[in-house]
Amino acid sequence: MPPRQEADRIRGPRVRGVDFSEVGPVRTCIGCRSRALTSQLLRFVAVGAGDDFLLQPDPGRRLPGRGAHLHPDPACFAQAERRRAFGRALRLTGVADTGLLAEHIRAVTPPGKTDDEASEPRHDPAR
Ligand SMILES: [Zn+2]
Repeated sequence: MPPRQEADRIRGPRVRGVDFSEVGPVRTCIGCRSRALTSQLLRFVAVGAGDDFLLQPDPGRRLPGRGAHLHPDPACFAQAERRRAFGRALRLTGVADTGLLAEHIRAVTPPGKTDDEASEPRHDPAR
C-alpha cells in the first residue's frame, strides 16, 4: 500500500473542522464574541478621544491606533451597542458615535437579512 493514502486518511477529517490558525489571524467579534478570521470581520478604530469619539470603519485594516473587530452584521452591531462593547474594546470611556460604523454595516449587509440568520452560524449542513 502506498504511504500517500495513509496521509490522506489522516488529513481528511480535519478538513471539515475549521482550523483558523492555518488560514490567518483570528480576532474576537465584540458583538457575538465568537472568534473569526480577520478577513471575515470589520475592523474599526476610534477617531478622537475623551468624551466623544467616532467609530471609523477600517475595511482595509490600515488605519493606525487601537482597533476592534466586529462582524459586518447588524445583529453583532446591535449586541455590541447594547453591551457598550465599543468603548470597552477600544479602552475609551466617552460616548461612541456609531453612525459611520452603522452606515458601513448597513451598506454591506444584503437587504432582508434577519437577526436570527445572523446569529446562527451555518457550518453544519447535516443539521
Ligand atoms: Zn459577531
